[in-house]
Amino acid sequence: MKLRIIPLGGQSNVTKNMFVYELWENDQIRDILLVDCGVGFVSELSNLGVDFVIPDVSYLKDKLHLIRALLITHGHDDHIGATPYIVPQLKHPKIFAPKLAALLIGEKFKELNIINQIEQIKYHQDYDFAGFKIRYIHMTHSIPDTTHIFIQTPAGNVYHGSDFKFDLTPVYGEPPDFAEINRAGSIGVKVLLSDALGAEREGYTLSEKIVGNTFEEEMRRTKGRFFMTTFASNISRIKQCVEAALKFNRKLCFVGRTMKRNMEIAVNEGYIRLSREHIITEEQVKRANPKSVCVILTGSQGEFNSALDKVSQGKHPFLKVNSQDRILFSADPIPGNETHVGEVIENLIELGAEVIYTAIRDQLHTSGHGSQGDHKLLVRLTKPQYLVPIGTTIKHGRAYANVMEDLGYRENEILRLHDGEPLVLEAGKISTESPIPLREMLVDGHSVGDVGERILKERESLGKEGVLIVLVKGDKVELISKGFVFNERSLFTELEGLALRTIKKSKDPKALADNLIAVLSGFINTRFERSPEIIPVIV
Ligand SMILES: [Zn+2]
Repeated sequence: MKLRIIPLGGQSNVTKNMFVYELWENDQIRDILLVDCGVGFVSELSNLGVDFVIPDVSYLKDKLHLIRALLITHGHDDHIGATPYIVPQLKHPKIFAPKLAALLIGEKFKELNIINQIEQIKYHQDYDFAGFKIRYIHMTHSIPDTTHIFIQTPAGNVYHGSDFKFDLTPVYGEPPDFAEINRAGSIGVKVLLSDALGAEREGYTLSEKIVGNTFEEEMRRTKGRFFMTTFASNISRIKQCVEAALKFNRKLCFVGRTMKRNMEIAVNEGYIRLSREHIITEEQVKRANPKSVCVILTGSQGEFNSALDKVSQGKHPFLKVNSQDRILFSADPIPGNETHVGEVIENLIELGAEVIYTAIRDQLHTSGHGSQGDHKLLVRLTKPQYLVPIGTTIKHGRAYANVMEDLGYRENEILRLHDGEPLVLEAGKISTESPIPLREMLVDGHSVGDVGERILKERESLGKEGVLIVLVKGDKVELISKGFVFNERSLFTELEGLALRTIKKSKDPKALADNLIAVLSGFINTRFERSPEIIPVIV
C-alpha cells in the first residue's frame, strides 16, 4: 500500500487550498479523499475582470468513481470558495464540513442552484471512507469551527494541520482540543502537514481577543462614522467589531455581497448576537447621525470594484467619507496585494479620513495563523516523522523549515512541495514525484476557465492602450475612442480620412474590417507608438 498526497494549490501563493489523498494498492489507486476546495486570489488580474482562480481538477476526471468524500477544514474562501465550481465537475462527492463552513457552502450552492450533500461533522468520532479512517479535531483560527484532520491509512498516518493558531481565549467557541491532538500523536503521525504562513514570526500569535479592545479604543476616538474592513469570512473579527459598536450605540451596516450573506448566517445561527433593529442599510447610513454608525465592509485587500474601493474613489452612491470619519483596516494584505491596498489607503487619506492600518497601529489585527511557537507546539504534540508546510508561499515554507531544524529535524525530513508535486509515503519511506500538470483556472463572473490567456491579453491592452471603435455606416465613418486620447480634432479628421479611403478601396466587404485595423493601427503605431484595440463595427 502506498499513500500519495498531491497539493492542487496553496503551496506558492497561500490561497487555492486543495489536497488529493490517494491510497494505492498493487500499483492502482484504490480510494481518493479530497481535503478543502478553495479559491485563489489574484489581485493583479482583478482589474482585468478575473474574479479569482480555482484549482485545476482535470487530473481527477478519470478517477471520479474513486473519490470517497470531500473534507473541509474551515469556512474561509481559500478553503471552500471553489466548491460551487468544482463539486459539479467531480460528480457531486459528499462533503463533510464543520458547522459554519457547511452553512457557508450551503449558501453558495443555493445561489447557483447546486444540490449536493453536506454533512456537518462531529468531533470525537471516527469516520470511515474505505481505506481511510479520519477524525476531525477542533482547532482555533480567525473563523469559528476550524478543524484539523487526523487521517489514518494502512500506508501511514497523516495529520492535516490546515490554517490554525493556538488561541486559548477564542472569541467564539472552545479552545483547541489538546487532548485529541495529543491522541493523534500517541497513535502515531508519520507526516504532519502544517500551516506555515506565520513562520517568519517569533513567539506565539496573539489571541483574537486583543483586537476587541482596539476596536473600542478606536471607536471612542471617532467623531464621525466608523468604518472597519476585513475579510467577509473573518467572523470572529466582525463579531468583536459588532460588540464594540453596540457598546458605543452605533448601528451596524454590512456592505458587500459576501459580507451581507455571511452576516445573515452568523446572526441567524448565533455566532454573532445582534438584533435586527441594530442593522441599517447603506441608504440609511447616508441620513443617520454619523456618530451612530459603524460600517463593516469588504475590500480589505484593495480588490478592484469592492465596496471599499468605491468608497475610496468617492464613487459609492451612499457611503461618503470625510475628515470626521475613521477607517480601520483589520487585515494584513495577502502577499502580492500590498500595492492595491496601499492605493486604497492613500485615496482614503486624500478624502480626509483618518485611516488606521497595521503599519501605524499595533493590535489592530492579529493573524489567524500561528507563529513559530504555535508551529513548534503542534510538532511537539503530534510528534511526526516528516513535515510538510502548506497554505504558504515559498518564502514562508523556507522559514518554517529553518524553525523546524531548531527542533532537530533534518533537511530531508522537511518536504517543501510545489503545487501539483506528489508526496509519496510507501513502506515507511517518503519521497516526491514530478508534478502533475496544472493549468490556471480563472473564474470570470460565473463562467469557469473560459478567460484564456488571449482574452486576458486583450483586456490588458484595452486597459493600457485604450480602444478605438470605427463605426462604418455605408460610406460614412464615425470614430469613438475610449482610454486613448485624441485631443486634437485635426487628428480625428485625419484618421477619418484614412478610414474613408480604406472603405473605398476595399472591394470585398469581408476584408474591410481587417483592412481598417491594419491601416489605422499602422498609422497610430508609427505616429504615437501606441496600439489601442481597434474595433471596426460595420452596419
Ligand atoms: Zn483560513
